[in-house]
Amino acid sequence: MSDVTRTPVVAGNWKLNQTIDESLTLVRQLREAISGVDGVEVIVGPVATALHAVAGELKGSNIGLAAQNTHHEASGAFTGELSPLLLADVGCTHCIVGHSERRQLFGETDAGVGRKAAALQAHGLVPIVCLGETLEQREAGETLGVCLGQLDASLDGVAVAGDRLIVAYEPVWAIGTGKTAKASDAQEVHAALRARLREAHGEVADSIRILYGGSVKPANAAELLAEVDIDGALVGGASLKAETFAPIVEAAAG
Ligand code: PEP
Repeated sequence: MSDVTRTPVVAGNWKLNQTIDESLTLVRQLREAISGVDGVEVIVGPVATALHAVAGELKGSNIGLAAQNTHHEASGAFTGELSPLLLADVGCTHCIVGHSERRQLFGETDAGVGRKAAALQAHGLVPIVCLGETLEQREAGETLGVCLGQLDASLDGVAVAGDRLIVAYEPVWAIGTGKTAKASDAQEVHAALRARLREAHGEVADSIRILYGGSVKPANAAELLAEVDIDGALVGGASLKAETFAPIVEAAAG
């Protein structure tokens, strides 16, 4: 074990919510609410149509800007898609890939997630690679096998370094359901993920931030974030209001 300290990350996934005006209002409120908070990296993830406006609103702050998806190619005949090149152009610093909603509703595979993550890195963006088990898999005792399998397969060809990659463990049954993993259960998965990263990539594993996601809210954030391998949170519902997102950021700052 090295003694690398990992700056916590709190990222908001706004999903398919918020017009441009609503996004700008939320960012302004958030900037005000967390203006005195240090020691935590904050990222917001608006819908694609709001990225440009939000990038402008974030100028002069150190809040990161995440897209929620990308294609792996930079350009070409891919009607309706966005690319890492264009996301960098609009001011994104990060991009969520492999969210369970994309895996379940849009057929995203581990191999596809890996291609997207590598392409994002090639354009200077940091992928937030999501993985997690379904309820059936948890009940069948398959959680660690599923998560480690997704980690291996989703990181094929991806650079593993603390400033180039963020991993998010999001049990599918906890996303948007109000059910949260017990902190100790989440820690068990995070520790296993880090151990696997260490096995495959060495000590750099200690610099990778592994976020927990799944119904994180002000009431449960501190307990989850107190776990040694939980380095922050990927937040859906509670990221849509500054009054619920800011306390999570504060909890991560410690
Ligand atoms: C998410 O969408 O990544 C998420 C964790 O959602 P929620 O916080 O609403 O469960």
